[in-house]
Amino acid sequence: MSVSREEFINKLKEGKVLLYRCKRCSNLQLATIVFCRMCNSDEFEVVEEEGKGRVVTFTILYVPPEGYERYTPYGWAVVRLDSGINISGFIDVKSARDLPLDSRVRIVGYDGRGILLKAENSSSSSSSVLTEVTN
Ligand SMILES: [Zn+2]
Repeated sequence: MSVSREEFINKLKEGKVLLYRCKRCSNLQLATIVFCRMCNSDEFEVVEEEGKGRVVTFTILYVPPEGYERYTPYGWAVVRLDSGINISGFIDVKSARDLPLDSRVRIVGYDGRGILLKAENSSSSSSSVLTEVTN
């Protein structure tokens, strides 16, 4: 079973991330890759993760992609999902003070800028929930 780019993006719009779990070595990766980074296998199970994690680092963008000038400035953050996978996306912060490192964030959508993130209530749980996806 493989995941198309469209399926991957549609899940992001629902705040979820599709992952591949390697059938040979169980390595988890985003379902946008073709071969397992660890063992080069191309046999995967598809799993779904709630798009929640913690901010690893971020920067503030003042020069947006064309058509997104109205959002500037905004943040571009690297987030470690609860599964341990890193993703990056855009978050509405105007200043470095607005988003302490390690803040809880979640995926809230996807548009021309890429993945859209939003800061979460810091009391939310960090338990990882992976769901098998079957057709
Ligand atoms: Zn593997």
